[in-house]
Amino acid sequence: MPDEPRFVVQLHRASSTHFDLRLEVDGVLVSWAVPKGPTLDPTKRRTAFHVEDHPIEYFHFEGVIPKGSYGAGDVTVWDTGTWKLRRGDDARTAVEAGDLHVELSGEKLRGRFALVRRGEKGDREQWLLVHKRDEDAVEGWEPHDHPRSVLTGRTNDEVAADADHVWLSGAEAASAEVVVAPREQEVEEALAALDELGRQGTWHLFGRELKVTNLDKELFPGRDGEPPVTKRELLRYTAAVSPTAVPYLAGRALNLRRHPNGAQTKGFWHKQRPVHAPPFVGSWGNPEADEGETSTYAVVDEAAALVWVSQFGALEWHPWTSRTDRPHQPTYALVDLDPGERTSWGDVLVLARLHRTALEHVGVEGFPKVTGRRGLQIWIPVRRGPTFDETRGWVETLSKTVGAVVPELVSWKWEVKARGGKARLDYTQNAINRTLVAPYSPRAAPGAPVSAPISWDELDDPALRPDGFTIRTVLERIRERGDLFRGALTTSQRLPTLG
Ligand code: MN
Repeated sequence: MPDEPRFVVQLHRASSTHFDLRLEVDGVLVSWAVPKGPTLDPTKRRTAFHVEDHPIEYFHFEGVIPKGSYGAGDVTVWDTGTWKLRRGDDARTAVEAGDLHVELSGEKLRGRFALVRRGEKGDREQWLLVHKRDEDAVEGWEPHDHPRSVLTGRTNDEVAADADHVWLSGAEAASAEVVVAPREQEVEEALAALDELGRQGTWHLFGRELKVTNLDKELFPGRDGEPPVTKRELLRYTAAVSPTAVPYLAGRALNLRRHPNGAQTKGFWHKQRPVHAPPFVGSWGNPEADEGETSTYAVVDEAAALVWVSQFGALEWHPWTSRTDRPHQPTYALVDLDPGERTSWGDVLVLARLHRTALEHVGVEGFPKVTGRRGLQIWIPVRRGPTFDETRGWVETLSKTVGAVVPELVSWKWEVKARGGKARLDYTQNAINRTLVAPYSPRAAPGAPVSAPISWDELDDPALRPDGFTIRTVLERIRERGDLFRGALTTSQRLPTLG
């Protein structure tokens, strides 16, 4: 017996709010827009406008359609299930005749419905949608009383605020859905598909195809008696962390730190988007690049593109602190606590606590993370406006005030050799195309440590280490603690004048 055809109802907030009822018929979605929405109430007749068939790829789309494109707004999967024809034996014929009787088995919609054509309104066919009086009928039942997505439990407001999927109306259906941040089930499917591959092959993940090679290659030496980390394990981590990590990279030029032969070999900067990168890896042409300079950068706007970065042998992700639409206006000010040879981890913690106190004192929120090497950074989200000169000057004032408290720990000398092994509070990273490693990026070091966000309270945890979290442990930490860096994306603040 063939599988029963499926149906979906999407709640779509575009120029007007409506419900889109779509029935799977012969590989396409036969569709009606229902302004007041379907109801189980058999006393209510609902106007439905027959609209053009939609591609099957749109079936479970939930996310955002960007401004300026067809249907711009937000979409949730309000209901889904299977359907049966209850009169006649051919759905297409029934639709053409304007008289369709179906039974829906969804999570919200159940029972028998009739869809009947009543005439034309403008250039649109106007139909009526009614629930039959059957055992599933419920008088007084209204769709807006049941607003949440059956796919993710979210409301349209929540989807709009966290656009994990985007639909590009102008693109071919097969590539119109951009998976910015995959959902749990998609990640599990992707990981299972990777497990199926031998040493190389085509990995289907997040709606994309990616050729992956040398999966058994050891990319990071083991640490503390643990086995080495293979490329397969790195790709697995990258796919699994992508829902959390991609928002810190999206819309920004990305400098890649490549170690194609593994973390134990010398790495090099790769600041150009390779021409052979797959098309879903974004690009940005820097309009101000001088002759001979890198002009086209890679931009990671979706999960599969980040996985490509790892396949490419880039073990570290270093995004710009400005976005490509306004490259001269940073969205973060950076405090980089860069230890010298004689700086202990305890010294780094002293400097971090002093910065915490200073930020509290001036009423500014900063977000700390360990680097995965020896240091610690604080990212300070900034509402766009100030230039790099301004954020650099602000961090310089802040850090010099802190440094004056502990002159025995800090050097302001540019030359490493002149610093006497002391730490450097490197405000000069606040400049265009100067980058710090991204949150959740691996580091090219034994054991595959990760630059992991921490809470301020963890500075007082004696177990905290700058390289203590690895690609083998940080996912569990995200599950338990959530994304401790999220406020760096959502906080809108101005830097106050420092007196
Ligand atoms: Mn619609």
